[in-house]
Amino acid sequence: MRSMIENSIKLFMIFFLTTVLLAGSALAQDTDDRTKLFAEAQEPFLKGEYEKAIKIFDEILEIYPTDSKIFEMKGLALSNLRLESTLAMQPQQNVSPRDPSNFNKLSMLEFYKALEINPNSVLALNGMGLGFGNFGEYSEAEQYFKKALKIDPDNEITQNYLYSLEKLREKYSLNIFENPTNKPDFLQKIEERTIPYWVKNNAGWWAEDKISDDDFIAGIEYLIKNKIISISSQNNKENSFDVIPSWVKNNAEWWSAGQISDDDFLSGIKYLIENSVIKVNVPTNSELVQKELERKAWNFEQYLKDIQNDIKNQNRYVENINPSEYVIVKYWKDYHKWNLEQYLNKPEIFPDRNVWIDPETDRYVIEYKVYINDQPHGMPIDHVSTLENSFNFWEKYEFNTTDGKKAGVNFDITGTKGDANVWVTWVVRNLGEDVLGHATIGKGVVEVVIGSYGCDGSFQLFGVDTVEQIMTHELGHSISLGHSTNPESMMYPSISNTDYAYCLLN
Ligand SMILES: [Zn+2]
Repeated sequence: MRSMIENSIKLFMIFFLTTVLLAGSALAQDTDDRTKLFAEAQEPFLKGEYEKAIKIFDEILEIYPTDSKIFEMKGLALSNLRLESTLAMQPQQNVSPRDPSNFNKLSMLEFYKALEINPNSVLALNGMGLGFGNFGEYSEAEQYFKKALKIDPDNEITQNYLYSLEKLREKYSLNIFENPTNKPDFLQKIEERTIPYWVKNNAGWWAEDKISDDDFIAGIEYLIKNKIISISSQNNKENSFDVIPSWVKNNAEWWSAGQISDDDFLSGIKYLIENSVIKVNVPTNSELVQKELERKAWNFEQYLKDIQNDIKNQNRYVENINPSEYVIVKYWKDYHKWNLEQYLNKPEIFPDRNVWIDPETDRYVIEYKVYINDQPHGMPIDHVSTLENSFNFWEKYEFNTTDGKKAGVNFDITGTKGDANVWVTWVVRNLGEDVLGHATIGKGVVEVVIGSYGCDGSFQLFGVDTVEQIMTHELGHSISLGHSTNPESMMYPSISNTDYAYCLLN
């Protein structure tokens, strides 16, 4: 035990694994090219060079114009371009003047297209929610987040955004505060739909013989892949028809004209597939889809332009719903209040912890007095209360000492800096590449990072559990523990999953 008490200052670091961007699947056959190009785009993206990344996304879209993942990534890149808190902006550079409103609009157009192709994309739904939020269209934003939550009820990003909206509502009494732009009817329809518009378009075109059977079938294949039609068992017997029966075409025509319901049409298709009347494995007619997509996006853009005009005319006050954006600005101000780096190499100013033997239990009690540093006012995520969890984690432990006794630790919070053995502070400064926190053995400053650029290249706050985990680890160092080689251990030097509270790519 004694030998463990070193007062030498030693920095311990905790690393995190770089987030790997989502790798999607292409609709077309040649996925190698796409994978290569996608990897090529990822590099500038993570460096914050979004214009470069967008150029590559556009190249991919020329080859695979219905790849919803690429639209999503392009939307994210455009969304990041409107921010100051990205890797590319720090701290230098003569960047061309940004027009945040325009970038917000452009990013929403990409999420819109992604949703046209895949209405169940949680990322694109969240992206739309964020975009509407950035325009001060909070009710509209809420609808998109709620739809995302319907598809993925456990999605914490969506939950966090909804909570963020709720807090705005409390703060401003939203129905008075909000003055939304009129929404065109067609948008309402998109929100209710789970079948991509192009499948229905295909059906109409196919009924009018504008496209081949194969193209029509491609749409059906999409519905199966995305579990919009569930096929119980696909019969393997050879086609008993070479041609799709004409009544299917009639159905398709009625369906595209809205004369029969989705369910009616789908159950007919389901019957055909299960009985091998139609086979499904053909790529889609991308040129037609692309044209239609552009046309629809143009309509949506008119709505967004109306919103932009209203923002100007109403002099609309907008509070962003991703708090990461204002938290980093708060930390940039009063830098030295939140960052205690000037005390890192000054162990002499910290008193030694108290150690005594409890006569009743004959156990060592090692007592740490902890001073909690200030945080900027109005932080969206409460880390002070989870600090208790970190304390409890170590207070539960029983340690063995070299003289055969047992030892336990106690943390007490003190409001007096001079009495404290340990000062904890939450920071956003750069502690070094991939370093999330550090502490010194026995006493001194514990710094824990509350966010980073590692998710999508813009500054994003961590989730509360991630920060708690880093804090617990660093406090472990404060009580003299070193690193463990066991990946399950709290003292393992790296953290396996870093959760970001508002990052769409999480
Ligand atoms: Zn460590």
